[in-house]
Amino acid sequence: MTSQRTRERLLQQLRAEGIRNERVLAVLRDVPRHLFIDEALASRAYENTALPIGFGQTISQPYIVARMTEALLENAKPKRVLEIGTGSGYQTAVLASLVEEVYTVERLEPLMKLARKRLREMGYRNVQAKLAAVGIGWPQHAPYDGILVTAAPQELPPALLEQLAPGGCLIAPVGGPAMQELRLVRRTDTGFEHEHLGLANFVPLILDN
Ligand code: SAH
Repeated sequence: MTSQRTRERLLQQLRAEGIRNERVLAVLRDVPRHLFIDEALASRAYENTALPIGFGQTISQPYIVARMTEALLENAKPKRVLEIGTGSGYQTAVLASLVEEVYTVERLEPLMKLARKRLREMGYRNVQAKLAAVGIGWPQHAPYDGILVTAAPQELPPALLEQLAPGGCLIAPVGGPAMQELRLVRRTDTGFEHEHLGLANFVPLILDN
């Protein structure tokens, strides 16, 4: 079982890297990351690093989860949030602890089913997860106050920006496979404003159509 000490150490690292939002820090401390990865890796669950979850995909680094979540809370008043790339379900659980409703889509069926089962067993009642369909996002439930993209597109798909409500914001890594720029896009009444938040390193967003 992972000790309280390893979780406190992770929190210290997140603070040292500049995470300031106490609600986000508390959630990163409390969400059991070791239950979102394979048991063989559970001893490393509270290291500040991405870890493999199978199918060539990764559970995101805690710092980047905290950074994106903090940016979302600071730039929107998110009630309904869409996540692209459920993966392990860890970022989904972090969001579900902080906002009213979370919608999440994943293109790999085994990952989606496992994440959905985990989230249900852990008692997250405000999450809806589904297999990604043709196109991007989940337009049926749009518009969203916030959208977090946890896989990297080369360019932001306009069809995804359209699912954002006015006053809402989208946070996404944008660029090639090795390194991306973390971008924040705010929807105003008249258009979209872009801001750069730093660098990121995500698996690619796959658009099949
Ligand atoms: N948020 C996840 C990170 C998962 S890695 C976590 O906390 O664990 C990114 C995920 O995005 C992968 O599982 C990948 O299959 C998925 N993905 C890639 N392209 C996608 C798309 N177009 N729609 C939905 N999911 C996608």
